[in-house]
Amino acid sequence: MADKVERIKCLIIGSGPAGYTAAIYAARADMKPVMYTGMEPGGQLTTTTEVDNFPGYPEGIDGPTMMIQLQQQAERFGTQVRIGMVTSVDFSEEQGGIHKVVVDNTTNIEAETIIIATGATAKYLGLPSEQRLRGGGVSACAVCDGFFYKGQDVAIVGGGDTAAEEATYLSNICNKVTMLVRKGEMRASKAMQHRVENTPNLDVRYFSEIDEVLGEQVVEGIRMVNNQTGEKEVVPVTGLFIAIGHKPNTDIFKGQLEMDETGYIITKGKSTKTSKPGVFACGDVQDKEYRQAITAAGTGCMSALDAERYLATIESNEEVEA
Ligand code: NDP
Repeated sequence: MADKVERIKCLIIGSGPAGYTAAIYAARADMKPVMYTGMEPGGQLTTTTEVDNFPGYPEGIDGPTMMIQLQQQAERFGTQVRIGMVTSVDFSEEQGGIHKVVVDNTTNIEAETIIIATGATAKYLGLPSEQRLRGGGVSACAVCDGFFYKGQDVAIVGGGDTAAEEATYLSNICNKVTMLVRKGEMRASKAMQHRVENTPNLDVRYFSEIDEVLGEQVVEGIRMVNNQTGEKEVVPVTGLFIAIGHKPNTDIFKGQLEMDETGYIITKGKSTKTSKPGVFACGDVQDKEYRQAITAAGTGCMSALDAERYLATIESNEEVEA
């Protein structure tokens, strides 16, 4: 049961690069942001090793260190970072209204603005061997980790646009890419399928699924199974990329905000405004296309600027009415 009420100007939900960048900007604009980190403080980057593609780190940086530094930067300007999980929200108030949030089923918060940066979670196949080798050659992000497999043989699972795009990306870096599609056709757009089919070192295997990922400490191969014939085949690879989609972390916002058919929050035009005034969304929770730390950080910055402008408009309206 909720027992306390706290009133704050800017509440940030989620602690990945989007949330922390929003916090840095909101704190510097004197919005006194409070951030709730969620279950995985630091977000998806804390599960990656080296981040080599974030501008400003010529030698690369490991994901957890980068997130600690982002937190320190946000705290330096006065952001309150709290460990906690938002368990329910009530965004029913209109323009100028107060947004109600409950944290850990116990703490009641009333916020003038909300910045949602809860991210998305990559889907995995769920095989024990796949889970064991995450970080040891199994990855859900080819753009993040593909470079580590330069000149090597890798495999990728999935038949959507992400898998097709990542497979062609990997084919430019790796020696050979085996792409496993579980149906007899891909779900990816025709243009992407065409690109895949015209890439010589990309071998598409239809009706194919992973039976087991081979290797103890690191990936040494995959055992594939043809789901029509039951025939099994071992393919030696050093990397396995899972590209079977992401699930945006939006369950608690269902019925409160406009979302697309897959649960991503819809933002208006080029802004981070959601369907509710005073509620903004940034990072992967509203972006299924780019999903990079740098693009998340960019939209995090935008969301703080949008929130600041929203508050300024509300305050000037109140002055006119007074
Ligand atoms: P999708 O949901 O579109 O595709 C997921 C793919 O993974 C499907 O081929 C699906 O197979 C397969 N899959 C799902 N579960 C399993 C499993 N357990 N085992 C094996 N295969 C599995 O996800 P994407 O991430 O590809 O795309 C998400 C959205 O983002 C789409 O709307 C896409 O168009 C968009 N997008 C657009 C891009 C662009 O325009 N440049 C780039 C990237 C994404 P099946 O078909 O059999 O269900």
